[in-house]
Amino acid sequence: MDYDVIVVGAGVEGSSTAYQLIKNGVRRVLLLEQFHALHTRGSSHGGSRFTRKFSTQPDAVNHMFAESAKVYQELSDKCGKKLCTPVSVVSFGRKDCPYIQRTIDAVREDSVEQPLISAREMNSRFPDQISMPDDFSCVWDNRPSTKLLAPSLIVATFQDLFVRGGGVLLDNHCVMDIVPGDRVIVRTNKGDFSSRKVVITAGAWAPKLISKLGVQLPIKVQRAEVLYFKVDCPDKFSLDKFPILVYENEVLKMDKFYAFPQYEYPGLIKVYYRTARDIEVDDRDEGGAGPESVEKVVQFIKTYLRGVATTPAIFEPCVYSLTPDILPIVDEVPGHSNLLFAAGFSGIGFKLAPAIGQVLTEMVLDRPLSFDISTLRLSRFTMKEKLTVAKL
Ligand SMILES: Cc1cc2nc3c(=O)[nH]c(=O)nc-3n(C[C@H](O)[C@H](O)[C@H](O)COP(=O)(O)OP(=O)(O)OC[C@H]3O[C@@H](n4cnc5c(N)ncnc54)[C@H](O)[C@@H]3O)c2cc1C
Repeated sequence: MDYDVIVVGAGVEGSSTAYQLIKNGVRRVLLLEQFHALHTRGSSHGGSRFTRKFSTQPDAVNHMFAESAKVYQELSDKCGKKLCTPVSVVSFGRKDCPYIQRTIDAVREDSVEQPLISAREMNSRFPDQISMPDDFSCVWDNRPSTKLLAPSLIVATFQDLFVRGGGVLLDNHCVMDIVPGDRVIVRTNKGDFSSRKVVITAGAWAPKLISKLGVQLPIKVQRAEVLYFKVDCPDKFSLDKFPILVYENEVLKMDKFYAFPQYEYPGLIKVYYRTARDIEVDDRDEGGAGPESVEKVVQFIKTYLRGVATTPAIFEPCVYSLTPDILPIVDEVPGHSNLLFAAGFSGIGFKLAPAIGQVLTEMVLDRPLSFDISTLRLSRFTMKEKLTVAKL
């Protein structure tokens, strides 16, 4: 079967791109997904993410953040769905932790209030929820542009608009091979498809798929152990009363922890951490939430939170695709101008997805690009970095 454009991978980046292609008048677009359309085995599932501006990130990222925030709001209004909601984010750690200083620099520029507050002040604002030691500092980010996003709902909305616009979504179709040429052949476990252009948005599987085209991507994959815990007083942890908490202790080289307000499941809050351990993407389900991961999160809860159970109620793991500079790669596959890809979204894929869909569509249509993506191209990495990360 022949198409104008084939998009491989229906996570948030692929679904956003497929939607933008149809919106921009491309008629025959195929979106291929190896699992079922709204599966939970990649990076884009779940009930909550957050988006905020970090002024220390490259201009391209900040422009894409602004455009994406606009699109999320427009789609929320158009579809009558709550894709984004205002939220506060509090980053905390020891006063001497470089992460705290970086966060102050990143949010100070357009903060309405002084963002730095003491641990004592934080404990008195949240006496029944938080308990921090005196030598900690907190960066309070309540800028209007800081939002909580609804990931699975966003992916479903892009896919729905894509299909209603005439696009074809085939799930349970795994792409085994991509054969370059004027008309690219995309081989799946259920048959072959062809098209003039192909966009690869395969998340943590992108390095494996693109390596078949002779290109190594500097992307490593890590698992996040996402757990939900019951709280004593759900009302005290509701979205309008409790912020998202982010904890990092670079001094002790500890993992990064996150705690979210009660949002997706009544009576439960989400607490998770990102292991600094690399995995093979196809081994992502091995081991489940082992005692070691649960113990780490429970220790975090016991140390810094109050009124939260210490036995998890739900476990929903997720994978990160990380580049050496924690920024995505958006480019043509070297040597193949009709094969485009976007991968390695690290922890900012939702923050950028609408703009990524737009820029990939412009690349497909050979139009001038709305964003200067030179800082996101593959060529920013040296051969050594490509090989180093590829070996991990
Ligand atoms: C716990 C956690 C918290 C996060 N928090 C935030 C946050 O607060 N803010 C933020 O902006 N970002 C956040 N992120 C990052 C964000 O979720 C990701 O960057 C984003 O989801 C990446 O989307 P993707 O489309 O690239 O990958 P995916 O969602 O994994 O999509 C890739 C898709 O391609 C499919 N695929 C792969 N290979 C093939 C093949 N051969 N054939 C067919 N289909 C294939 C996969 O099945 C998958 O569906 C977080 C990530 C995690 C894990």
